[in-house]
Amino acid sequence: MKLSRSFTRTLRNAPKDETARSAQYLIRAGFVNKEMAGVYDFLPLGLRTLKNIEQIIREEMNAIGAEELQMSALQNPELWEKTDRWSDQEVDIWFKTELSAGGELGLAPTHEEPITNLMKTYIKSYKDLPVFAYQFQTKFRNELRAKSGIMRTREFLMKDMYSFCADEETHNEFYHKAEEAYKRVYERVGLGDCTHQTFASGGIFAKFSHEFQTELPVGEDTIYYNDDKSIVLNEEVVLPEVLDEFGVKKEDLKSENAAEVGNIFTLKYKYSEPLGLKFDSKDGKEQTVFMGCYGIGVSRVMGVIAEKFADDKGLVWPENIAPYKYYIIAIGEAGNKIASELEKEHPETILLDDRDARVGEKFADAELMGIPYRIVISDKTIAEEKVEWADRKTGETKLLTMGELTAILQK
Ligand code: ATP
Ligand code: MG
Repeated sequence: MKLSRSFTRTLRNAPKDETARSAQYLIRAGFVNKEMAGVYDFLPLGLRTLKNIEQIIREEMNAIGAEELQMSALQNPELWEKTDRWSDQEVDIWFKTELSAGGELGLAPTHEEPITNLMKTYIKSYKDLPVFAYQFQTKFRNELRAKSGIMRTREFLMKDMYSFCADEETHNEFYHKAEEAYKRVYERVGLGDCTHQTFASGGIFAKFSHEFQTELPVGEDTIYYNDDKSIVLNEEVVLPEVLDEFGVKKEDLKSENAAEVGNIFTLKYKYSEPLGLKFDSKDGKEQTVFMGCYGIGVSRVMGVIAEKFADDKGLVWPENIAPYKYYIIAIGEAGNKIASELEKEHPETILLDDRDARVGEKFADAELMGIPYRIVISDKTIAEEKVEWADRKTGETKLLTMGELTAILQK
């Protein structure tokens, strides 16, 4: 991609009311645009990053046998009345609207009700089970506070997966696979070392649900762990009876701020019962479907990564999710010619800064955007058949021969 072709531009300032550092950088680097509090547009660079995260999640969900669909954001109140989740007293984050023909609609904050209802068309017998389905979908929540940039917004991208099983045993098997898939997702997006599976409240059937929490100084949650980190607890479950159960004392626990990047729940019959999702078992008896749900905040993950790795110069993207891998700056006629040929060969991985701008400005923008590797091709180094290579994360620079560079780009 040639930077001169993009309509976005880096900005010197972020909106004054933007307090999160990640959001300031994301706006200044041209990844997102702030429409209003808690509402953001994803611009070309930001969308590529978001899509890279989405694709990693998609691959891992497909690998455990789940099937992708996409459901509507507009919600029929009737379904939500059956589970007592339509009233604003029960669920206080609804965006609701009136139809001009009369009646109400809601913008989906989550999708348990409609997907459970959808499955009534397809799940009739034990032969139709299990079903594992997921989507990437925009959710709407009228959040009271939205001040953490894209980490907490009123419109956000979620991956939500739902499992439908004949019995608890099949459910547990899939639940375990989902846990492992989640760990691989966080590993692949670059959060493996700092993301923990925690015990959380909200278990409907099982005593606990599980969350995935990333250590983050500005995170909204607090996690508690023993030094060995083999158990990590959410704040709300640090209770005397829970500590007894795990055989730990409160004074042996350390705490850390963290951001919730995903969660998994055993729902059992919470939605299948009121919505009437049943099947005929092998021996001809009618049974209720055993359910689970599994969420990842895709846009929040992007915000957490931006926040976590940023330094005083700007964003620092892990290679797997960066919008481009290489940022090329050319100096001089021969340098420009080679750079332009390389970009033509690798338009998906190279961002060529061919703007009519000062070299210093290009260096600063490469750092602000957080592209993992910067390559400077100048007439001076070309004369020795070499280019300068810099690692955004470590700051390390070295000279590469043209042959070495070609081999890296080919990978
Ligand atoms: P939180 O406790 O942060 O409010 P939640 O427990 O309500 O989130 P879920 O309804 O289970 O979250 O949603 C699944 C995932 O979606 C969460 O783990 C989180 O990563 C993400 N998420 C939830 N709310 C938001 C939001 N307002 N903006 C961005 N991502 C969100
Ligand atoms: Mg939560």
